[in-house]
Amino acid sequence: MAEMFCVKCKEKKTVPDDQTTLEKTAKGRNMLRAICPTCGTKMTKFTK
Ligand SMILES: [Zn+2]
Repeated sequence: MAEMFCVKCKEKKTVPDDQTTLEKTAKGRNMLRAICPTCGTKMTKFTK
């Protein structure tokens, strides 16, 4: 499970791991992407 912040709901959402996508930015940082289960907004979060 990943905890991510939805800017539209203005609250934290818990997203199952199988609904998140891990991407790498051009600077080599890992970024987690997910869709808010409540409103469908894209959420992103930097990870270590
Ligand atoms: Zn939301």
